[in-house]
Amino acid sequence: MPAETLDQAATAASRCTLCAPVLPLGPRPIFQVSPTARVLIISQAPGTKAHLSGIPWHDKSGDRLRDWLGMDRSQFYDSGLLAIVPSGLCYPGRLAAGGDAPPRPECAPLWHHRLIRPMRQVRLTLLVGTYAIRAHLGRKAAAALGETVQNFAAPLADGRFPLPHPSWRTRSWAERRPWFEAEILPALRQAVGQALRDDGGSTKG
Ligand code: SF4
Repeated sequence: MPAETLDQAATAASRCTLCAPVLPLGPRPIFQVSPTARVLIISQAPGTKAHLSGIPWHDKSGDRLRDWLGMDRSQFYDSGLLAIVPSGLCYPGRLAAGGDAPPRPECAPLWHHRLIRPMRQVRLTLLVGTYAIRAHLGRKAAAALGETVQNFAAPLADGRFPLPHPSWRTRSWAERRPWFEAEILPALRQAVGQALRDDGGSTKG
């Protein structure tokens, strides 16, 4: 049986309704993939604005993330350059205590390998937020987010780069950690530029 193509996996994922009984706004898988993408963002889960628009990172957090990456919207939404695969593809709802609920735990085990593995041109994988960092770095992640980010002030040998979630809360977090803007963001922009320029001879971001 031939291997599943990225198109086939994306079509199947976009039709997924596995969590329908527990999703307050219903299933709407939101992601952006392409066989030529050089940079992959593994994030948390879409928010309400992304759910309503169908566009990932369609909010102020997205504006902040684009600023961190040194990308405008046309580059960010060019799937030929940049892929976006959240830890949970659908908006998961709110926690009773406030804030968005965690990504649905069923989602990444079901879809990540099918969507990510066929993207063989990816040079740099940005792990955005604690869910993505814990899932993908495992024991390499420090207990504190700041320590994890500071430990990886350049991409790992395999091109993974952990980042905080760029929500409004991160503004005060970053103000207390001036090294983030002074050291991490320049390293991040350099890694993104290198990944986009890479001719395919290297897997390092
Ligand atoms: S969150 Fe993931 S597993 Fe659940 S319905 Fe959406 S795409 Fe399917």
